[in-house]
Amino acid sequence: MTAVSVKSGQGTPTLPAGAVDGLRGRVRGAVCLPGEPGYEQARTIWNAMIDRRPAVIVRAAGAADVIAGVRFAREQGLRLAVRGGGHNIAGSAVCDDGLMIDLTPMKSVRVDPIAMTARVEPGVTLGEFDREAQAFGLATPVGINSTTGVAGLTLGGGFGWLSRKYGLTIDNLLAADVVTADGELLRASENENPDLFWAVRGGGGNFGVVTSFEFKLHPVGPQVIGGLIVHPLSRAKEVLDAYRKAMANAPEELAVWFVMRKAPPLPFLPPEFHGTEIVALAVCCHGDLDQAAKTVAPVQAIGKPIGAFMGPMPFTAWQQIIDPLLTPGARNYWKSHNFKALTDGVIDVLIEFAGRLPSPECELAFAQVGGAINRVPAEATAYPHRDIAYVLNIHTRWTDASQDKTCVAWARELYDRMAPHATGGVYVNFIPEDEAQKMVGVAYGPNYDRLAKIKTKYDPQNLFRQNQNIRPA
Ligand SMILES: Cc1cc2nc3c(=O)[nH]c(=O)nc-3n(C[C@H](O)[C@H](O)[C@H](O)COP(=O)(O)OP(=O)(O)OC[C@H]3O[C@@H](n4cnc5c(N)ncnc54)[C@H](O)[C@@H]3O)c2cc1C
Repeated sequence: MTAVSVKSGQGTPTLPAGAVDGLRGRVRGAVCLPGEPGYEQARTIWNAMIDRRPAVIVRAAGAADVIAGVRFAREQGLRLAVRGGGHNIAGSAVCDDGLMIDLTPMKSVRVDPIAMTARVEPGVTLGEFDREAQAFGLATPVGINSTTGVAGLTLGGGFGWLSRKYGLTIDNLLAADVVTADGELLRASENENPDLFWAVRGGGGNFGVVTSFEFKLHPVGPQVIGGLIVHPLSRAKEVLDAYRKAMANAPEELAVWFVMRKAPPLPFLPPEFHGTEIVALAVCCHGDLDQAAKTVAPVQAIGKPIGAFMGPMPFTAWQQIIDPLLTPGARNYWKSHNFKALTDGVIDVLIEFAGRLPSPECELAFAQVGGAINRVPAEATAYPHRDIAYVLNIHTRWTDASQDKTCVAWARELYDRMAPHATGGVYVNFIPEDEAQKMVGVAYGPNYDRLAKIKTKYDPQNLFRQNQNIRPA
């Protein structure tokens, strides 16, 4: 047996000789130290601004490996980080010096087409989940970028194109298997550990490591009507006025989000518009295709687009439509607001800031939520924002580190200018690293105290603190 002592940086714990070998003996997956195969891959996450080096990484093959990792971190007094899809903007999936449990090898999706449910392991991405469920013409609401992790998205709430009809991702969660801080595996559902089940539906990774999610599925597609309609930013005011009118009574099968940014070189856009400021309406309508084609017509009739495509396509293809704009490896800083309505004041601020984007990749993404999400009471799950109609995500994105200050300052200024028009709440999954602790109370609002009590019960020592942290009461 090789004696290994680990010291990956200044002030880090040195593990007793043999401790890592002991861990290797208890893990079916892999245990990686700095420099070993798999280490760099596991620690590299979506947001290139995050560059952390754990002392040890457990690449988990199953729940038993997660239990071994949690126990080892606790016994050795190591900071613990848990990685699902690695997309969290704050980079909470990875820590310096401590132990990281990488769940990405846990890729199983088991669909039961009769019961219309799916059991999903925590290393699965949205695209992988959609692919398996769509093989049976089924789906549940998840987000809009196929490489995002099901785990982190679900634990924060989760919304996407299907949410107006079927609610948040957590509204479709039937049960979760959770490894708690003492290394026990608990099942959480309405009937088993219901306090834990309430907490994991929005409370993030604060309560344990979820090793399996069980979701309710719905018939969707496999074809939907999807498309992008692009207008110049100079006409954004009239376009968005028509948009909010068209959406006022739109059926819940229809979701139309919009993005303000510089036009990418999309093949359906005349070249003279490439690189100019635009507002793009992203349209997805599911359900009966003939009806869906009629439902999208009022949105297609808005103004005079400079380019558009719209038509039937596989839902799995639509779910990847935004992927090329959100690839991993760029520097990213996000700020986000919730809104009850798209008011003139909101539109004016958006247009002003879209007119001075600090980099070609920056965008203002405006998600339409509401519908079924709002029919769930605020206290029914940990996610409390059940009265909003829209979410703004300020996607500040660039590649050169010398632009960090300019880009972050633009995002903060826009956020401050928009604040008087917003609800004051924020989606926990859109909080950047420097605000993780400041904003966590705002993210949970009236549900925070109940979450803190449940945290005290399941994780009194705050082992799971590498996240938007809910402190034990
Ligand atoms: C390009 C992009 C597009 C997005 N679009 C949407 C969208 O349309 N809708 C939406 O709702 N959100 C969206 N998000 C936000 C997304 O929900 C969050 O970034 C989420 O945290 C990603 O989860 P992950 O598993 O990929 O991330 P990770 O960074 O791996 O995990 C996020 C957090 O959850 C914890 N965690 C992960 N897995 C587990 C587990 N199994 N048990 C316990 N804790 C765990 C981690 O420790 C970390 O704190 C988007 C993000 C990106 C980057």
